[in-house]
Amino acid sequence: MMGSIVKKNSSRFFQNRDCEYFPCHDIENIEDFNCLFCFCPLYHLGESCGGDYSLSKSGKKSCVNCSRPHEKGGYETIIAALK
Ligand code: SF4
Repeated sequence: MMGSIVKKNSSRFFQNRDCEYFPCHDIENIEDFNCLFCFCPLYHLGESCGGDYSLSKSGKKSCVNCSRPHEKGGYETIIAALK
């Protein structure tokens, strides 16, 4: 069976259960998982992004443990941070 869209897609939310990585992060309610910001627009802010990032030994930023862009309300949080 192909993946299903459980919420109405919009300019603020979409979910692609057919993605081979879905869900790429753990969140409390999978129905709320937002794929819109697959690549977080706050990445360029470095250590000021406000997310749960970590740094590798070589100083590379990793977002593996941050689900902020994908959680319920994540769209609003990210847009507010960009402003
Ligand atoms: S995913 Fe999280 S840790 Fe990575 S840039 Fe976005 S807010 Fe920061």
